[in-house]
Amino acid sequence: MIIGAGLGGACLAHGLKKAGVSVAVYERESARHDGFFGFRAVIGPSGDRALRDALPPDLYETFAATCAESPRHLTVYSKGLDELFISSLPAARRETGDADVGLKYASFMTLRQLLLTGIEDSVRFGKEFTRYERRPDGRITAFFTDGTSAVADVLVGADGAQSRVRQQYLPEADAHDCGFVVAYGHVDLIEAARLLPWEMLGGISVVGNRQGLSMITQPMEFQWDREGELKGHVGGVHAALIKTWPGLRYDNTRDHLMWGLISSSRLFRADPEAILGAKLVDVVADMTRGWNSALHTLVGLTDPATAAATRAVVSRAIDSFQETGVTLLGDAGHARMPDPGAGADETLRAAGLLCGQIVRAVADRRPIVAAIHDYDAQVLGSGSEAGRAYWKCLNRKARMDRSVIGPMLAAGSRTRLRVANQVPSLKKRVAGEYRWVQGGSAA
Ligand SMILES: Cc1cc2nc3c(=O)[nH]c(=O)nc-3n(C[C@H](O)[C@H](O)[C@H](O)COP(=O)(O)OP(=O)(O)OC[C@H]3O[C@@H](n4cnc5c(N)ncnc54)[C@H](O)[C@@H]3O)c2cc1C
Repeated sequence: MIIGAGLGGACLAHGLKKAGVSVAVYERESARHDGFFGFRAVIGPSGDRALRDALPPDLYETFAATCAESPRHLTVYSKGLDELFISSLPAARRETGDADVGLKYASFMTLRQLLLTGIEDSVRFGKEFTRYERRPDGRITAFFTDGTSAVADVLVGADGAQSRVRQQYLPEADAHDCGFVVAYGHVDLIEAARLLPWEMLGGISVVGNRQGLSMITQPMEFQWDREGELKGHVGGVHAALIKTWPGLRYDNTRDHLMWGLISSSRLFRADPEAILGAKLVDVVADMTRGWNSALHTLVGLTDPATAAATRAVVSRAIDSFQETGVTLLGDAGHARMPDPGAGADETLRAAGLLCGQIVRAVADRRPIVAAIHDYDAQVLGSGSEAGRAYWKCLNRKARMDRSVIGPMLAAGSRTRLRVANQVPSLKKRVAGEYRWVQGGSAA
C-alpha cells in the first residue's frame, strides 16, 4: 500500500499495476482535482524514463503532448527590469540521452491528473493516514483518521515533505527548516503579455534584488485554450491524444506565467503557512513595491486560487536503515527546498527504482523487505547527498542576505553579469551557473 497519491505514489502505483503487483493508494485529499498547484514540474531524462516505463504507452504520449512549450532563453534582470544577461537554452528534444536538452515542463495539476488516469480503481480518496503497526506476521497495518485501517505486505510513505510515515519510521530524519520561504502564483498569460518585455514571455527569467530576494518567472503555454478546447494549430496524434484523455476534465490548468519569489524567512512579511490566496498576493505585492512597476503589477494580477507559500525544508541525512516492510518515496524520503525544481524529477526516478526492486523481488520470489532495504540504501542515501548539495546553495544565498556584504556581492554580481553578456567564453560559464533555474535533476 502507498500513502499519498502525489507524483511519486501515483507513478509507483502505475508501475506496479503494469507489472501485475497488487497495489492500493490512500490519499488524504477528498477528490482528484484537490491539492497542490506548485510551480511547474521539470522532468529530466531519468524522470522521463521512469514515466515511460510506468505508464501505458498512450498515457506516456499524452504526458508529452500536455507539457508546456520549452523556454527558449534564460534572462537575468535587475529589480528595475534592466536586462543584465541573456543566454539561449537548448531546445527540448523528445528522445535524448543528453541531460542538457532533455527537460520537459509540466503543470503539477496536469501531471497529477495524468498520473491518476488508469489507476482510479486503486486510489482511495479521503483517507488521511495517521500511523502504522507491524503485525506479528511481518505485515503492516495502516490507520486512517476516519477510523478505518488497511493491511499490506509493504507500506510506502509517499506522503510529501511533512510525511507522517517518516515521522514514525525515521523520526531522526525529520525535515529541517532552512530559513527560506518560497511563494508562488500564476498570472493569466495574456494579462502578463500586456506588461512584460518579450524575452520574459519566451523564457525563464530571474529577477534579483539587493536584499536577498529573487523572483523566477516562466511562461507555461499549453496546447488547449481557456475553454479547454484544442488550439487551432494542434493536429495529428497530439490532438487525438488530448481529446480522448479524460484527465483534462479535472484539470483547470490554462496558459499562464508562473512566478516564484524566494526570500529569507526574516524578510518574508508573514507566516507562510498561515496565509493563502489574496492575502498572500498582497504580501508579495508589498515586498516587490520598489521593483519595476510591471513586476509589481504582475504580482497583483495573480489568480488568488494559485497563490501559496511554503518554508524551505531539507531532510537530515539518513545513514542506516532497518529491514522492514516500510519505506519512503519522494519528498517523504528526502524533502528539499523547491527552489532548484528537481523534486519532481527525482521523485519519479525513485518511483521507477522502487518499482523495479519490488517487481524483481516478486518475480524471483525473494523477500520484498530485502529488496526495499537495497532501495533505501540507494535512494534515500543519494537523497542525503542531494541534501548536502543543497546546503551549499543555501549558504550562498545566506551570504547574499547579509545586510552589509549582500548589497556589495549583488552589485559585483550585476557587473559580472553585464561583462559576461558581452564575452562569449565567460557567457558560457555564467549560463552554467544559472542552470539550476531550469530545474530537473540535471541541474
Ligand atoms: C512550493 C513548491 C514548489 C515546487 N516547485 C517545484 C518545481 O518547480 N519543480 C519540481 O520539480 N519540483 C518542485 N517542487 C517539489 C515537488 O513538488 C516535489 O518534489 C514532488 O511533488 C514530490 O512528490 P511526492 O509524491 O513525494 O509528494 P507530493 O507531490 O507532495 O504528494 C504527496 C501526496 O501525499 C498526500 N498526503 C500527505 N499527507 C498525507 C496523509 N497523512 N495521508 C494520506 N495522504 C497524504 C498529499 O495530499 C499528496 O497528494 C516544489 C515543491 C513546493 C512545495
